[in-house]
Amino acid sequence: METVFIGFGSNLGDRVDYCDRAVTLLSLLPHSRLRGVSLLYETEPVRDRTDPGEGWFLNGVVQLETDIKARSLLTTLQEIERALGRDDDDRSGPRTIDLDILFYGDCVIKEPGLTIPHPRLHQRRFVLMPVNELDPLWVHPVFKRSVAQLLTEVSDESHAHLLFPQPSTRYGSRPNCQVPPGS
Ligand code: AMP
Repeated sequence: METVFIGFGSNLGDRVDYCDRAVTLLSLLPHSRLRGVSLLYETEPVRDRTDPGEGWFLNGVVQLETDIKARSLLTTLQEIERALGRDDDDRSGPRTIDLDILFYGDCVIKEPGLTIPHPRLHQRRFVLMPVNELDPLWVHPVFKRSVAQLLTEVSDESHAHLLFPQPSTRYGSRPNCQVPPGS
């Protein structure tokens, strides 16, 4: 089994519900075990290569152990995106759900349509923060630096903060989702 980190994000419609549904579907994947789910972060839309609109994102990360091969996992994530209403005709626009393979074990993959580790993860605070929550010592197999180190070095100025209060899930499938104290 490989340890895999999958990033999810939503900035359209009922964002909490889309994130919950995505996490639930990921928790049901065959040949896989859900190991952790980060808290939800609210993040400013980043316009590096896309135009996701004005809506702020909810972002988080799921940690899985899986026997599903990386390419099949990508296809599965795209099916989940479609099932949750992702607009295939305007992939760079506002999105009900976006799913990315961040790490697939310590594999380094560069194939048409699939780059692992995700090529921009080390530049994005909203990705590094939830991975850091799940496994700060996880080492980026290209940069040979832990996620905690990458987070101290990231120059991303865009805002990313923990969503507060954290929603309670309707799907009951987020075993590691903690509620912040006092909520
Ligand atoms: P997005 O519009 O952000 O969902 O990007 C999806 C596109 O990125 C698809 O065409 C994928 O084939 C490609 N892609 C490349 N590497 C990855 C990855 N590690 N995780 C998800 N999508 C990827």
